[in-house]
Amino acid sequence: MSDANFSIPSRRLLLAGTALMGFTTAAAGQSSIQPIEGKRGGTILGPRNGPLEQENPDLLQPPVTDNGGLPNLKFSFADAHVKMREGGWSREVTQLELPIATAIAGVNMRLNPGGVRELHWHKQAEWSFMLAGQARITSVDNDGRNFVSDVSAGDLWYFPAGIPHSIQGLSDDGCEFLLAFPDGKFSEDDTFAITDMFAHMPKEALAKNLGTDEKALANIPSGEKFIFQAPMPSTLQADTVGDPQGKVPLDMAFRMMQQEPATSPGGWVRIADMRNFTISSDVAAALVEVTPGHMREVHWHPNADEWQYYIAGKARMTVFAAQGNARTFNYQAGDVGYVPKSMPHYVENIGSEPLRFLELFNAPRFVDVSLTQWMALTPHELVAAHLNINRDLLDGLPKDKRPVV
Ligand code: MN
Ligand code: MN
Repeated sequence: MSDANFSIPSRRLLLAGTALMGFTTAAAGQSSIQPIEGKRGGTILGPRNGPLEQENPDLLQPPVTDNGGLPNLKFSFADAHVKMREGGWSREVTQLELPIATAIAGVNMRLNPGGVRELHWHKQAEWSFMLAGQARITSVDNDGRNFVSDVSAGDLWYFPAGIPHSIQGLSDDGCEFLLAFPDGKFSEDDTFAITDMFAHMPKEALAKNLGTDEKALANIPSGEKFIFQAPMPSTLQADTVGDPQGKVPLDMAFRMMQQEPATSPGGWVRIADMRNFTISSDVAAALVEVTPGHMREVHWHPNADEWQYYIAGKARMTVFAAQGNARTFNYQAGDVGYVPKSMPHYVENIGSEPLRFLELFNAPRFVDVSLTQWMALTPHELVAAHLNINRDLLDGLPKDKRPVV
C-alpha cells in the first residue's frame, strides 16, 4: 500500500492537533494542488488520490475555456490488467477500457529473450511499433510466400487481416512493442492460436491432414500457450525457410526512424501510411516529437478518429467538440489518448523533456487539416471580420503546413 492510502487518517490526526506521526499532508502522498483559481473553487476536504491528481492538473484546475461534457479521452496502460506468462506479458486498452475508442484497440507486449508470442492470426490487421529491444517476426501469406525479419526499436510491422504470424524476443533483453488493431473491440484474448486449434481438432483428423499417425501428435499442448519461453533462435539466415513461391511481395516491416522526418520549428513528424509503407492499408501512423514549450499545432483529421500512444514526456491536449463543448486532458508515457474524427485539438509539451507520441488512424492515409494554414489561405478580410483580429496577423501566417510549432 502506498502512503496515499493513509492520507485521510493522517489528515484527521493533524487537524486534531495531534501530529503523531509527524508527517505533513504532502508526505502522506497528498496532492499539493487544489481546485482554486482566484475567487473560484475551494480546497478539497474529502478523500484524495494525490498521485493521480498530480498527473491530471488540467482536470483539477481546468482552463476557463473548458466547458460542457466530453466522453473520457484517456486511459493509461498503467490501469490495465497484465496477462503474465513464462516468456513475457501483455496488457491491452480496448473499447472495454476506453469506450469512445471504437476505431482502434492497442496492446502493449513484452517478450523475454527467446520468449514467443505464439503462431496465430486474427480477423483484424496488426500494426506494431517497436519500443525497445529486438524481435524476430515471421509470416506466410495466402499465396504461400514467406516472410521473416528482425526488427528493433523504432521499426514497424504490419500483418494483413487473417494472415498468420509470430513474434519472438531476441538479444540480451528481448523486446517490448505496441500493437494496434483497426477495431476497438479487438482483444488479444480472441485470436486464432495454433496450439488452441490443435487442442480442439480430433487428433486423427490432424494426423490425416499432416500425413502422419496419431502417435506423432502425442505431446501436443492441451490448450493455448499465448506467450511461452523457447530457446533463442539462431541467426536470421539459418532460421529462414526456402520458399519455392518466393518472398512476400510487400515488405511487412518498415524502418520508420530511417525515414527523413518533416521538421518543424518545434519538433518533427514521421509519417508511415500506404504512400511509403505500402502494405499498411488499414492503419496510418504519425510519430511526433515536440520539444519543451512547443506544441503540435491546432488541427483535425477529416478521415478518421485518432488513437494516441504517449512514449515520453508530459502533454496537455484540449479537444473542441462543437456546441461550446471543450475539455483538456493530460498525458504522459504509457497513456492512451483519443480524438473523434474532425474534432480540433492541439498537443502541447508541458514538461521539461521532449514529448514523443504516436497518432494512429484506422485509415489508409494520414490526413490532417491545419487551422493556421486554413486561415492563411482564406481571404484575410473575411477571417479578420470573424475574429476581430488585425489583418497584419493574418498576413504574417505561414502558408505551408507546420505540424509542430
Ligand atoms: Mn497478432
Ligand atoms: Mn491529431
